[in-house]
Amino acid sequence: MKTNRRQFIGTGGVLAGAAALTPLFQSYKSDHSNFRKSKKGLQLSFEPYELQLKHVFTIASNSRKTTPVMLVKIEWEGFTGYGEASMPPYLGESHQTATNFLGSLDLAQFTDPFRMEEILEYVDRKEPGNAAAKASVDIALHDLVGKLMNQPWYRIWGYSPENTPVTTFTIGIDKPDVVHDKVKEAAPYKMLKVKISDGTEKQMIEAVRSVTSVPLCVDANQAWTDRQKALEMIYWFKEQGVVFVEQPMGKSNYDDNAWLTQNSPLPIVADEALQRLGDVQKISGAYSGINCKLMKCTGMREAHRMLELARSLGMKVMLGCMTETSCGISAAAQLSPIVDWADLDGNLLISNDPFKGVEIVDGKVTLPELPGIGITKI
Ligand code: MG
Repeated sequence: MKTNRRQFIGTGGVLAGAAALTPLFQSYKSDHSNFRKSKKGLQLSFEPYELQLKHVFTIASNSRKTTPVMLVKIEWEGFTGYGEASMPPYLGESHQTATNFLGSLDLAQFTDPFRMEEILEYVDRKEPGNAAAKASVDIALHDLVGKLMNQPWYRIWGYSPENTPVTTFTIGIDKPDVVHDKVKEAAPYKMLKVKISDGTEKQMIEAVRSVTSVPLCVDANQAWTDRQKALEMIYWFKEQGVVFVEQPMGKSNYDDNAWLTQNSPLPIVADEALQRLGDVQKISGAYSGINCKLMKCTGMREAHRMLELARSLGMKVMLGCMTETSCGISAAAQLSPIVDWADLDGNLLISNDPFKGVEIVDGKVTLPELPGIGITKI
C-alpha cells in the first residue's frame, strides 16, 4: 500500500499535467468508451512527508517550525491523481492517524473514478473525523478525474479564471523588528493577514503599518474574551485599513460573536467555529462570512457546497489553508474565482514544496491551464 519517496516521485508524473489542454470533446469523447469498459480498480498509495517552514510560525495559541503532511496518489488506467493531507498538530491528526485511516480504505472496489459521489461517501462514512486524510483522497480523485476529462476543475465547475482574488500573506505574531522584516519580504502581496493575540493588537498593526499601506485583515484566532474590548479594537482596526476580522472570540461562544457581528463596522468571519457543510447554517446568524479550508471540511467536493450555501445565505466567503504544498493550495485555488477573499499562502511559507501549481502574479491567485488541480511535480 505504501510507496517510498523515490517511487512516488518517479511514477505518474508524465501524464500528470505536462500536456496542454485540448478541446474537451476531442480528448474526452474518444477516451470515454474505453474508460467505461475498464474493470481496473483505483489504486491508492500514500507517503508521509514533513514540511519545513521558512520562519517559526506563531499564532495566538502556539508556535512551530514544521508541519506533517501525507502525500497521496490515486492511479487508474495510466493516469495519476495527486492529493495531500496537511496535519498541524493542534487539529488532532498525525502521520499515524492518516496511515491508519488511509490503510483501512479499499478503493480497489471502485472501477469507475467518475462515480465521485459514491467513492467519497464511502470514504467519509468509513470513520468519523480524519478530515485531512479524507481531503487527501478527495483531492487526488478530483485531480484524477480532471485529468481524465483533460480539464481543470475551475472549468468543469464553470468558473472564470480571471475572477480569482488576491491572496493575503500571513504575518505571524512577533517582535516589531521581526515583523518589519517579514512585511518587507511580503512586498509582492497586495493584502496581508495579521495574526494578533489579546494585548498584541496595536503593536502588531503599528509594526505592519510602519512598512506598508496595503489592505489588511486581522486573525484573532479566538483571542478575545471581552466583547466590548473586541469591538473597540475592531473600530480602531477600521481606521488602520483593516477590511475584515477573523474569529474574534471563542468558537463555542455563539452569543458574543453574534453580538460583535451585529455591532461591528467590519465583516466578522468564522474560522475555528466552522468545519463542515452542516456548520454553515448553524453559525450563519453569528458571523458575516466563512473561512472554508479543504483540510477541515474533507476536500473540494464539500468545500464547493459550503461556499455555494454560504453565498446563498448572503454571507461573505473566503478560502483558507494550512501550511500545505502546492498540491493542497492548487486544489483550493480551483474554487477561488467565486470567493471574496483568499488566504492561500500555505505553500509560500515552506521551503521544500515537491509540486508546482497555482502562482501568485501581482498578488493575485493565478490558475495554471493544466487539467485536474493544475499541478506538476518538481
Ligand atoms: Mg484563521
